[in-house]
Formats: sequence, structure tokens, C-alpha cells
Amino acid sequence: MSTSNQFLTLFDLLPIGAYRSSASGYQLRINKALVKMNGYLNEAAMLEAVNASKPEWYVDPARGAEFRDRLKLDGYVTGFVSESYRHKTRERIWISENAHIVRDADGKILYYEGTVEDISQQRATQDALHTSERRYRALNDNALYATIIADADGIITFANAGIEPLLGVTPAEIVGTNLFATMHPDNLLEHRAEFRNVQIGENTGRESIARHRHADGTWRYLGSLSNDCRDDPAIGGIVVNWRDETEAEHTKRRLRELAENDSLTGLTNRAYFEELGAQILRRAGGTNNTQLALFFIDLNRFKLVNDSHGHSMGDGVLKEVAIRIRSALRDGDLVARLGGDEFAILTVVDTRLAASQLAARMLKVISQPIIIGSLRFDVGASIGISIFPSDADTFDELLGYADLAMFEAKAQRASASRAFKPALLRRALAQVAVVTDLHQATLEHELQVYFQPVVTLINGHWTGFEALVRWHHPIRGIIMPDSFVKAAEEQGLVGKLGAIVAEKTLQQARKWREEFGFEFHFAINVSAYQLRDDTFAGFLQEAFERHRLSPHRFTLEITESAFIETSQDGGDALSKLRALGVRIALDDLGIGYSSFDYLKRFPIDMVKLDQGFISGLPGNKVDVAIVRSLVTLARSLGMILIAEGIEKPEQAAYLLELGCNLGQGFLYSHALPAHEATEKMRAMGVGDARAQT
Ligand code: C2E
Ligand code: CA
Ligand code: CA
Repeated sequence: MSTSNQFLTLFDLLPIGAYRSSASGYQLRINKALVKMNGYLNEAAMLEAVNASKPEWYVDPARGAEFRDRLKLDGYVTGFVSESYRHKTRERIWISENAHIVRDADGKILYYEGTVEDISQQRATQDALHTSERRYRALNDNALYATIIADADGIITFANAGIEPLLGVTPAEIVGTNLFATMHPDNLLEHRAEFRNVQIGENTGRESIARHRHADGTWRYLGSLSNDCRDDPAIGGIVVNWRDETEAEHTKRRLRELAENDSLTGLTNRAYFEELGAQILRRAGGTNNTQLALFFIDLNRFKLVNDSHGHSMGDGVLKEVAIRIRSALRDGDLVARLGGDEFAILTVVDTRLAASQLAARMLKVISQPIIIGSLRFDVGASIGISIFPSDADTFDELLGYADLAMFEAKAQRASASRAFKPALLRRALAQVAVVTDLHQATLEHELQVYFQPVVTLINGHWTGFEALVRWHHPIRGIIMPDSFVKAAEEQGLVGKLGAIVAEKTLQQARKWREEFGFEFHFAINVSAYQLRDDTFAGFLQEAFERHRLSPHRFTLEITESAFIETSQDGGDALSKLRALGVRIALDDLGIGYSSFDYLKRFPIDMVKLDQGFISGLPGNKVDVAIVRSLVTLARSLGMILIAEGIEKPEQAAYLLELGCNLGQGFLYSHALPAHEATEKMRAMGVGDARAQT
């Protein structure tokens, strides 16, 4: 979570004590607050004194032993309250501690880190409240606190005059209202839970802070301490003591904001999200029937914004998305930017269904076009959902599972959301295995090329094929390219994969020319990584010559994102490939970025309309408009157009009407192994009477 760097920069800013020590108890760093708490002037003086004397910090040494045991056992300790000594003066104070062990990648202990908060003040107040004498006095008017009594629903039955300076209302005005009525919505979730906890005897005894609306319209920070005195006949309600903390809070907040918020969007940052999330889960865990949903949101196609329009445009898009997410949520929901184009939300939900409905709403608001200046961006998103406590009961797991579910959603072509299910975990583990297998696979044998026919829409005749790779895994069976091409790219195996696919496609092209006396067109998918590999062109040229095939009948399909990635090299790689005589096709046109200027800048012969748009034909007006304009654009630039993913006859008919003559899709045929394609062509009588094109 927090890297050592963050820790160091935050270290001295922290309003509470913090230290770092070696496993043997040797102090390495002590921050300002802790130095002060222990009565020293500076860190060096305290380090020297402490490391020389190895003091017993705890008034009850057994508590010290307990703290160390817990730390060793669990790796962390939180909210450990004990009485201890100020080191310099040996004065007794009450402290609350958190600590954890920091390890290196191999699990070796690097050091311990912890925070120490002086809670003597709070303890004193709490003790005071526990004595009935003090309680009685608290009920009388006094200037320090406002005291109110509320019933179990929070309806105020009594308030003393102290309420006036705090909230600008008289006791008579506030009695009968709800004590949450003036509270800021952001604080409600937490404080309602706390109010419930007080009633079931799970009082933390700690002062908690919430914003309340003063009658003059300003927000005041009120520290509150509550006590259930419903059994006390003299009181008969829950006593809430409010104290004005506005000044102190303002200072503290400013310091913390620096550390907690993402400076670009103003949302909570990852570290603080994890910290708060863990706290909220811990509290919700006690309440039995609180369900929380965690949404992991990853934008689609965001990289393209950055790559094609620069980072300041990317920042603009992120800011807008942050605003939209925030405004689609209730106050009190926790929203964070985890980093890059990843966002997360933690919220209370009633049912799983409600969670997926919220996800659908999120997708909708994010997918509305984002207009910045004269540019329009269509970023979508993928959302993963996990539910506490049914999916996971720790925050780390909950976040990890939502992330996994998000990946599942990413696999969909359009924006989508997916809920976590245990099968995903199993699949993720299997995926890891797949990736390792890829290295060991004898790729020449296990990779096979399937062929999906490209047809002339007017009569359904096969004019060519797109080569689509399949991995015939000896144990797992057929694995689809979406599950391993990316892994191959990341592991530097895609060059090898591409060469195998090209070689097998060329072999097949030769066989079919021999059998049918007819040269089909072939399209081969090429990844961005291959474009950067300058041996690829040479390899292709050699293969064309060896098989005595004409490069003119081959097309290399390159995705829009790969185009943009290569735009830095000025399209040199593309020109080099094109010089061989092959055609270049832009794959998946339309799903990426609407700045089509690279259509003009790059040597592109052909475009493929993404199936995402085709599926909306002819009913979806937006899709119709997009396809229509893409067809016009492609034609005006003299490019050949192929529609992908045609599944229904009416789609084909409509495409023809728009002026698109070529297509592929399940309506005509799936991608087929070579022998099946051969049989079908024999059955259709291909080559018997067909003229060469
Ligand atoms: P793509 O290039 O967009 O390929 C089209 C995908 O749509 C193929 O999935 C194809 O089977 C599928 N498809 C075709 N017609 C229909 C239809 O009517 N409806 C639907 N729903 N789907 C249809 P496939 O074979 O799973 O390939 C997925 C992607 O993997 C390809 O998308 C391509 O980007 C990549 N890929 C495939 N083979 C290779 C390869 O040899 N090298 C590289 N670098 N990438 C490859
Ligand atoms: Ca393709
Ligand atoms: Ca495609």
C-alpha cells in the first residue's frame, strides 16, 4: 500500500505520532508528533536516549508483551489501547497504537512501522462520563459542551443551552428534531452505524467528528461522545455530548487532504481508500446485516485519448469522469481514483440486484460522449463488482475480487459490468497456468489457424478469408486468441506467434490455389508489437517467394490502437510492409478514437467496421448514423470496406443499402479449420466455374 517514500514524506506531517523500528526494537525514525509526545525537542535527541536505554513503554509490561506477540502473529496490530509512559518525564498517558511489519519481496522483515496517538484527553472525558456524578453535571448547562438526549431513533428529547453557541438554535428549537438532521451527508453512514453500536453496547468510547450545519449556514465540526443511558431512569435516553472542534479540524483536514486526495480529481486516493475501506468493513462487520458493494471501474480506450491527444486532454477526460461518477452517487458513498484510469466506489447496498443496477447507471453516465473544446471522446468503462460480506470479508480481498470481475467485464467488446463469482478466481488461476504453458508449448504444433470466410454480401460468395489463430492445448483443449495473444505480446512471444500464423496461412493459400485453381484473398492479424519488429517484413517477403504467392492478395489487419502506437515512428513500419505489395487494413474501425486524421496520414487500403456497430443495425439509430458516416468516409478516401460480425440477414441487407459490399460473420460462417473450409468449398463447387477476380 504505502511505499516507503510516501511514508517518509507523510511521516512528519502526520498529526499523530509515528515511528519505524527494527525487528529487535531499535528505533530508526521517530516523527515530530511522537518526539513531542515523549517530551523531547528533536528526533536525534530522542533516538539517542531511547536506543541507549531500551525502555519499558507500557505501565503494565504484560500489555507490551501482548502487543509484540500480536504483531508477530498477525503482522499488524490496530487500535491497541494501553497506558504507557512519556519517555522523558515518565508521566503516564493513555495511547492508542497501530503497527505493522514491513517485509521485502522475499518475506524478510525490513522493519516495523507504527503510529501512536495520545488519547489521554479522550480517556479523561470518557471516564468522566462514566461516573454518575459527572453525568449529572453534564446534564446541567455548561459552556464547554452541548449535551443532548435522544431516543433510539435519534429524536432529540432534551438539549441544554450549550447548543446555542454550537449550532445557533435554542434548546426549544432543536428538541423534537433528529440529531442527524443537521449532519453532513458524508458523515451519515459512519455515524448512523456508530449510533447503533452505542445502543448495542459496542461503544468505542472515542470521540468522533462530524460536520453539522449551523443555523447561519456554515459547517461546524462537532466532536461527539455518546452514552446509552436509556436504563437510567433519571435520563432515559442516549446522551450525546457535542464539542466544537471546528478550528482544530480545519487545520488537521488541510494537512490530511494533502495526503488523502488525488490532486487531479479531488477524489480519495488509493492509499486512503484502502485505509477507510478497511475501517468501514470492520465496523460493518459488527452490524450483521449491512451489505457493501465495491465497484472497480476501468475506463475503456482511455490510453488512446492520451496517446492521440496528449496528457492534458487525458486529464480533462479523467476529471469529467470523476465528476460524473460522483454526481451519480449518494452523498456518503466513498469514491476514489485508484490511479491512472481506474476508479472505485464503496457503497451500502440492499441486494446484489441493486448493485448491478447501480453499475448499469455508472456505465450509462460514463458512456455519454465527453466534449472538450471541439473534440468528442467516447470512453466506455468496464466495471467489476464484489459484495461484502458474501464474496469476501477483508477489504484487500474485496478489492482484488472486484478487480478480477472487472477483467471479466473487459473481455466484452462493449462497456459492461460483471459481478465477482468464485469461478472467476479459479479461471484466473488457470489463466496464470496458461501463460506459463505458452512458454513450454511447442507452438508450431499447438497453434492452428482457422479461416473465417469473407463474402460478397450481394450473393454470399466466398472471396477470401481472415486467418484467426487458435491454440490447441494438449490438456485444456481449444483456447481462443483473446485469452492468450495479449500474454504472448507481453512475453515477447508474439513475433514467433505471428510468424507461425503467417507461415500456416501461406501454406494453406498455396494448397487451395492448387486444389481450386483460384487465389483467394487472405487477411492476417498483426499486433502492434510485430510492427515494431523490423525482421517481420523480411520474413514475409521470404515466405511469399518460397510459396510463390502474390503479396497483392494478402492483407495485414492492424487495430486502431496499434496504429496510434506506431504513429510515433511516423508509420515507417507500415510503409515498409506495404512496399512488399501487401494491403493494410484498419481493424475494428469505430471503437477507438474519433479523430480519423490518421486515416489520411497512413497508407491504409481497407477498413473493417467493428461488429459492435453492426449488431445495432438496422434498429439502433446511433449505430446506423455511425456506420453510415464511416461508409461515406471510407469511400471518399477510396478504401475498401468490410463489415464484421454480421449475424442477421437484415444487417447484410442494410449494409448493402448503405454501400458496403463485403462482410463476414456467423450468418455466413464461423472461423473453420482448414479441412472443414475445404469440404465446404468442394460442396459449393468453388473453382468449377468461377472466374478469377
Ligand atoms: P478480430 O480481428 O476483430 O477478429 C474477429 C473476431 O470476431 C474473431 O474472434 C471472430 O471469430 C469473431 N466473429 C466473426 N464473426 C462473428 C459474428 O458474426 N459474431 C460474433 N459475435 N463474433 C464474430 P476470434 O477468432 O476469437 O479473435 C479475436 C481477436 O483475436 C481478433 O479480433 C484478433 O484481434 C485477435 N487475433 C486472432 N488471431 C490473431 C493472430 O493470428 N494474431 C494476432 N496478433 N491477433 C489475432
Ligand atoms: Ca481482424
Ligand atoms: Ca475486427
